[in-house]
Amino acid sequence: MKKIINSFIDKGFNEGLNKEDYIELKNLLININDKNLILKVNTLLSLIYNAGVLNKLSDENIKYIKDNSYLLPLVLTNNNQEKIKITSMDSYMLLCPFHVDHKPSFSVTNHLNYGHCFTCKTNVSNISYLKKQENINYIDATDLLAYIFLFDIKYQNDKVLPITKKYQETIKSDRYSKLLEQGLVREINKYGVSSLLLERYNDMFKTIDRIKNNEYDSNFKLKSENKKLILTNEILKNTNL
Ligand SMILES: [Zn+2]
Repeated sequence: MKKIINSFIDKGFNEGLNKEDYIELKNLLININDKNLILKVNTLLSLIYNAGVLNKLSDENIKYIKDNSYLLPLVLTNNNQEKIKITSMDSYMLLCPFHVDHKPSFSVTNHLNYGHCFTCKTNVSNISYLKKQENINYIDATDLLAYIFLFDIKYQNDKVLPITKKYQETIKSDRYSKLLEQGLVREINKYGVSSLLLERYNDMFKTIDRIKNNEYDSNFKLKSENKKLILTNEILKNTNL
């Protein structure tokens, strides 16, 4: 068994470890009893995972997804409070989804995709919100975000479709549009009109229209990368491999 694991480490040095290696290593774990070897395999697995090898999407895709989806409608979907206060620039005060909250203490800054609870101190982005809320991993949360905001519904599989639809219903709702309109008016009154401000809201309203029409984002070019984890002496030094 030790030999097999070392051959994976050699491969990591020479040609790199890919998704198939990850699966093989994971299967190996079932048959190992030696504690040290288990530790080694787990280290390799987490190194491969953290190198993004399992991602179906390229880094460029992930950045695009992050930048072109919004946190506010996601949080609104799982929140039924009637009155929502708009505080500073594009920030909405909501009941916190992460602790039992009776007085809204969770602030969502929509265009920054940043959520922060002043009581339990939880911070979330659009991806980490979905991770926590839907109890899924980073990769699935990124995919889900793409399905909700960027894809035509026909690209989705049966498993994610109901969740995607749940969030898209909010994006298409009057409740969300009205909140954005109020936010826009508030910002104009407070900071004056600027082309940057109009562009920001224009993007958000365009997203709503696109989803209402069930159109995918034509600027989103799906690219997959065949990533590998290349092991180095530096990595070896810092881990227990
Ligand atoms: Zn909280």
